[in-house]
Amino acid sequence: MECYAEPEVPPGTPSLTPEERDLLACAQTIADTVLEPRAQETDLSPDPPADNIRILAEAGLVGITTPREYGGFGVSGAFQRLFTEILTAACGTTWFTLTQHLGACGMIAGSRNPSLCERFLRDMAAGRHLVGVAFGHLRRPEPMLRAEEVPGGYVLSGVAPWVTGWPLLSGVVYGAVLPDERHVYVYVATEESESLRSSEPLPLCAMNASATTEVRLENRFVPDEDFIKFSSREEMARGDTNNIAGAVSPPLGCARASLKLLRRTAEKRKIDFLTEAADALETEINACRTEGFRWADGPKDISEYKPGALGARAWAIELAVRAAHAAVAASSGAANSLQHPAQRLFREAMFYTVIAQTQDVMAATVRRLLTPPAPL
Ligand SMILES: Cc1cc2nc3c(=O)[nH]c(=O)nc-3n(C[C@H](O)[C@H](O)[C@H](O)COP(=O)(O)OP(=O)(O)OC[C@H]3O[C@@H](n4cnc5c(N)ncnc54)[C@H](O)[C@@H]3O)c2cc1C
Repeated sequence: MECYAEPEVPPGTPSLTPEERDLLACAQTIADTVLEPRAQETDLSPDPPADNIRILAEAGLVGITTPREYGGFGVSGAFQRLFTEILTAACGTTWFTLTQHLGACGMIAGSRNPSLCERFLRDMAAGRHLVGVAFGHLRRPEPMLRAEEVPGGYVLSGVAPWVTGWPLLSGVVYGAVLPDERHVYVYVATEESESLRSSEPLPLCAMNASATTEVRLENRFVPDEDFIKFSSREEMARGDTNNIAGAVSPPLGCARASLKLLRRTAEKRKIDFLTEAADALETEINACRTEGFRWADGPKDISEYKPGALGARAWAIELAVRAAHAAVAASSGAANSLQHPAQRLFREAMFYTVIAQTQDVMAATVRRLLTPPAPL
């Protein structure tokens, strides 16, 4: 595919390499010419977006989080945020399905398990071997998936309540809780058997086409060669805290899509106040991104960090819902049609409210939503 689009690189973004700029241009071209034009169809499809992911893979964009030595690009965090914003502005379902794999590539690359890296990473970077993740449940107070150390490996039993993209996956990285409360992460192939069964895709109001399932494991043996890492609730909480503001990008991408729709509607209906509203929304999206990136790229060991980062995340979440609601209002009754992008963006904005949610993020979101607006 010819990559001609100039990606929008917002002011204040840490510098990208020339190669990262080219990759972003490619992502923008695919977003504009493939993902966005098909977004309604993708959203309503009973199947996950295999063809969209294939096209992204052909452009090298499925290998962005894989190190170079395994055929990927090992991009920066700043690149990943901009990439996420481009994809979520075009097609939330495609981004959400792909992002599990991008996370799995990074986890396996970081595993220091040469056997696992050699067996899978090159095919993962090329999109020939897609891998999901199942560890969000480790944030819950009670363990859902338990592991025991046995000679030669581990035995896993319990439920992984969310595994996105199941029909596309060759493997899944599961996180489970050991008897001493440590977390263990392992790779498990998706072939079903008596020890591993997936549900049908869960019926979802947003991202239904991501084919998210629940997977039950019963005395499933996992050999040492598929071990990824040990971790703990504290380490996971540290990672979540460090990533509070980095996760502004999905809701901001969604808000950007609503902004585009608002501008298109203003032009079509020739309504000046919609143009004014779109101008104000654009200014606010840019300000929210600057605030989010400031905390994402700044020091994490200062007392201002956590409240500042939570404020930015809650702002992005609330802004995405508000922007999508404005796009619904501007589109009138037609917005309610399942073929209309405004209702899809409204549902996607709701979804971005809860992904990678922690109790802190929940509290910051609810507080922001329930703070009465200043009187006009
Ligand atoms: C459609 C969909 C697909 C998803 N796909 C994946 C996937 O592929 N892989 C993956 O790993 N995750 C996936 N997730 C999980 C996603 O990241 C979670 O939504 C997110 O982690 C919040 O988890 P939860 O919705 O299960 O809520 P919970 O975990 O129930 O709650 C969120 C937060 O509240 C806290 N909390 C909950 N109950 C209590 C309590 N009683 N007391 C104190 N604190 C409490 C938890 O500790 C946690 O921090 C998916 C989620 C959705 C909705």
